[in-house]
Amino acid sequence: MKKWHIVFDADKCIGCYSCLLSCKDEHVGNCWLPYADRQQKKDQKWIGMERKERGAYPRMDLAYRPTLCNHCGNAPCVKNAPDAFKKREDGIVILDPAHAQGAPELVKACPYGRVSWNEEIGAAQKCTLCAHLIDEGWQEPRCVQACPLKALRAVKLEDPQFEKLVADKGLRALIPESSRPRVYYKNLHRFDKHFIAGEIAYLENDEDVCAKNADIRLVKDGAECARTKTNPYGDFRFDALESASGEYTVEAELPGRGNVSVTVRVEDACVDIGTVYVT
Ligand code: SF4
Ligand code: SF4
Repeated sequence: MKKWHIVFDADKCIGCYSCLLSCKDEHVGNCWLPYADRQQKKDQKWIGMERKERGAYPRMDLAYRPTLCNHCGNAPCVKNAPDAFKKREDGIVILDPAHAQGAPELVKACPYGRVSWNEEIGAAQKCTLCAHLIDEGWQEPRCVQACPLKALRAVKLEDPQFEKLVADKGLRALIPESSRPRVYYKNLHRFDKHFIAGEIAYLENDEDVCAKNADIRLVKDGAECARTKTNPYGDFRFDALESASGEYTVEAELPGRGNVSVTVRVEDACVDIGTVYVT
């Protein structure tokens, strides 16, 4: 049977928070029993948002990732409170509102912090993946529909098909695979890996000129591990480098102008080699 999955791409997300706002719009003040009672207006979220800043001015970036119930295939919440959490055939995990009323202990049934307490109605709650809409024929929950960049996608696939997608696209989950999460992330290197970046330039009549389209090689242990070209401003970047991965050499060559190489170390942060001149 096909099951719902959510796939998020950190490279596409601009942190507009439309996904969070649409969740509020759908669930605050709206009672979708038997799926879920109304969401609390303030101080309760069924989707969270994490952000990560890397590098330093002028070579830095900012990434966002929404966090929500993973609708786990092997869900700890279902094991911890089988009367309250129900796994549907389409993969969606529902926290039964009748069992959740007056049961704050259910917040702890999820080891990943995806169940929260609604003070207004006195009930434990979590994301339903808008099951009330899915059961009406919607092909995506409100958060996915609201995303202007298509950074969030809902896909309904058989488990082997989804496993292939995970492998082909290099997707990763935020929680252990043993729980068989159904929410996966692309380009998570923007949260836990590092880049080496810089600018290549040359001098002409004592003026700095950006070296656009220069060939840049990243060399590790004497072997090339990546290659790129500078953009029109002479900037380049090698990304997704592991923490503490050691020494790299950046070799730059601008045909007709010269070349330069710089050796750096990647420890626990991104590296900016600054402006380097080919001669
Ligand atoms: S993320 Fe938590 S609440 Fe959601 S299905 Fe998994 S264990 Fe249950
Ligand atoms: S709506 Fe899409 S682009 Fe906006 S914050 Fe959410 S995931 Fe990112």
